[in-house]
Amino acid sequence: MGLIEDRFRKNTVTDLADFGINWSRKMSLWPMTFGLACCAIEMMATGASHHDLDRFGIVFRASPRQSDVMVVAGTLTKKMAPILRKVYDQMPEPRWVIAMGSCASSGGIFNTYSVVQGVDTIVPVDVYVPGCAPRPESLMYGFIKLQEKIEKDTIAKKA
Ligand code: SF4
Repeated sequence: MGLIEDRFRKNTVTDLADFGINWSRKMSLWPMTFGLACCAIEMMATGASHHDLDRFGIVFRASPRQSDVMVVAGTLTKKMAPILRKVYDQMPEPRWVIAMGSCASSGGIFNTYSVVQGVDTIVPVDVYVPGCAPRPESLMYGFIKLQEKIEKDTIAKKA
């Protein structure tokens, strides 16, 4: 949880702080606008009016410096991998990554010399969304799982 992580013993005050901090973080996830291949079309559909990610407080941003979630939507080539890492490095802490689709999770059907076999070799992944391409409902479920993960974060020392 950033700079104050692991500074305190667990007590009522840290529990209350955890609740407030985690609630505000999970209800204001701002993903980086960043699509790589066909999965990005489904990501765009998830953000559009029919599925409407805004109601979860999820608003796409056009700058990594304003984003705290990266949705890797599509096939990551080895040529593109350093750029993905650079964008990730420009995002402020705390930040999270969702690997959307089988290409991002494992290379998918592209077991070739030019495709990265899983984006977790380039950036740390928090949630994997399976499918080719995953439906918008699947990505929304991935976001809900990420919110559940954020809920468990704490500023207290982990025993
Ligand atoms: S998982 Fe399927 S839909 Fe998504 S980028 Fe790969 S080939 Fe395209």
